[in-house]
Amino acid sequence: MTATQTHCPYCALQCGMTLTPEIPLRPGMPGVRLEPAEFPVNRGGLCAKGFTAADLLDHADRLLTPLVRKEPGNRESPLREASWEEAYEQIVAAITRSQREFGRDSVGAFGGGGLTNEKAYALGKFVRVALRSSAIDYNGRFCMSSAATAANRALGIDRGLPFPLADVAEARTVLLVGANPADAMPPSMQYLDTGRSNGAKHIVIDPRRTNTANGAHLHLQPLPGTDLALANGMLHIAIRSGWVDQRFIDERTEGFAAVKAATNSYWPERVERITGVPEARLRETVRLLATEGPAMILTARGAEQHSNGTDTAQAWLNLALALGLVGKPYSGYGTITGQGNGQGGREHGQKADQLPGYRKLDDPAARAHVAAVWGIDPDELPQPGKSAFEMIDSLGTDGGVRALWVLASNIVVSAPDSNRVRERLSKTDFLVVSDIFRSETAEFADVVLPTAQWAEEEGTMTNLEGRVIRRKMALPPPPDVKTDLTVMTELAGLLGRGEFFTDEPRAVFEELRRASAGGIADYAGITYERIEAEQGVFWPCPSEDHPGTPRLFADSFPTASGRARFIRVDHRDAAELPDLSFPYVLTTGRNMQQYQSGNQTRRVKALNVALPEPRAEIHPDLARRHGIADGDLVELRSRRGVATLRARLSDGIRPDTVFAPFHWPGANALTNPALDPHSKMPAFKVCAVAIARAGHT
Ligand code: SF4
Repeated sequence: MTATQTHCPYCALQCGMTLTPEIPLRPGMPGVRLEPAEFPVNRGGLCAKGFTAADLLDHADRLLTPLVRKEPGNRESPLREASWEEAYEQIVAAITRSQREFGRDSVGAFGGGGLTNEKAYALGKFVRVALRSSAIDYNGRFCMSSAATAANRALGIDRGLPFPLADVAEARTVLLVGANPADAMPPSMQYLDTGRSNGAKHIVIDPRRTNTANGAHLHLQPLPGTDLALANGMLHIAIRSGWVDQRFIDERTEGFAAVKAATNSYWPERVERITGVPEARLRETVRLLATEGPAMILTARGAEQHSNGTDTAQAWLNLALALGLVGKPYSGYGTITGQGNGQGGREHGQKADQLPGYRKLDDPAARAHVAAVWGIDPDELPQPGKSAFEMIDSLGTDGGVRALWVLASNIVVSAPDSNRVRERLSKTDFLVVSDIFRSETAEFADVVLPTAQWAEEEGTMTNLEGRVIRRKMALPPPPDVKTDLTVMTELAGLLGRGEFFTDEPRAVFEELRRASAGGIADYAGITYERIEAEQGVFWPCPSEDHPGTPRLFADSFPTASGRARFIRVDHRDAAELPDLSFPYVLTTGRNMQQYQSGNQTRRVKALNVALPEPRAEIHPDLARRHGIADGDLVELRSRRGVATLRARLSDGIRPDTVFAPFHWPGANALTNPALDPHSKMPAFKVCAVAIARAGHT
């Protein structure tokens, strides 16, 4: 009965926990006792999701064997159990057929932000070396790609928080934009709570009065999709009030003059007209950020999941740079990454345009370095492929992806415009889904592969701080279940490229270290032993005698000039605005009890008892106008689909805005897949909807 120190399977906080095997709950399945650990990020805390995570291990819905269609090629026929040999035979035949008929790029993979670094790395390599295809991207594209793109442009590096989470407790002012950690990652609130009990001021920008906003000093409620104007308006006030840090601007940045000129037009009355936020609140926010001591601006999906998400994150970065917050103790700009390995998942090559170490796939030097580590010719590496939604939207089309492998992702629930996603999946020639449960996406699959889960595998994850941690095996996977690394290795072997792959996580990590060496996300000095001994190691860490880098930007920025860059950005309307037919704004987000598409957490009994169904949050004035009472079923309708949810009336939401959680099928039937031109992030957070009591349309 050995206890294993590992980490929660869910969000990017990656809380530490201890698993101890105990009496099995069902014959043939191992049981495990789960307790919180004193790890630096959670310090003994866990949320309800973490506390109940062991329920996933011996859940009755667990996939325990591969599934194939009773009549191959007919998705109307039921899925039946099959051997791995039979499943592999069908997959390899489909890959071969598709690539022969439609070219190499007709076969691809869609990864997930929950995969370990080793699996994300191996998947990028599998697609480019075993499939020799450009078709790979992952659901992290839907998560933090706008903030990542903005941070790369301004700071030369993208690490969610460029400082340890503990610094949040020391900041005197924290501005949270579109972030709701009280629901998304409750143990992180201890840092905000400590700061507040020491007199720190917290400001929340969110169209809803969330649990995070409830405890804040100030709550600003802009119209969804107008944050950029809000940030530019605050910069306008900072400049006019003499609150900018001119010395920092002169010594450590470039490009301020153009941004300063552009903010002339963001006078407070105009900003109030666009956003609905009164000038006095803008001014007080800027005063607190500029004059009270160390201050932070933290964005999350509410600010970033827009058709102008990159420019919006850029506007907040411009403000942070102008106030001289970046690179100073207990101060700066950061984005709160959501998925468990959202950070590491985007560093090691499962993005369409990237190679390991956060290298660019179209950079000849990067291609040469990674090709040498992989033992291939750089010319064998494909060029960048389609981004996540573009790949989904190409399924089954001429020139598109015809055969797709989806791992650790439930795109039928989590991608925007889910009716379109369903249609595209139904047109795909061949679909393979690897998961631990039979998700909504798996229902479209030709082959479903059961995969080992968090406590049944070894590997590393990189949390929201850039801290690389160890995920450890506490118990073996069920007998006929394989790890994704094993599946990749065996499939590569069947495709004649087996010599390039191994399913041993430590060996994969050693190769990842070499591939990332010298890159932006440099893991060269990180070993499994160091992670264990040091409770995680922060990248970049270029050598084994390097201490790791908990805080970035103290002396310089990893840009060509060593300076941070201001970039001019201007307000533009959301891709879809309310009109007479669809008069309200829908915005989506999280509930405390659920995680992502809910494929795991919707199966956990205690979480379902706490919140059995999604609730549409509606202001009482709006509800009254449509004869809706608390608890009524309401029908939300957008240009793309319809969703029926139970109403929860709340005077904490703007009267022109409706909120729906995205953990169940429904919300994303409504959302708009308009993409940010820079990050290719869909506009999850704004679309136009009509509302009616169900049965009264
Ligand atoms: Fe798990 Fe995140 Fe909850 Fe921590 S906050 S227990 S990592 S879901």
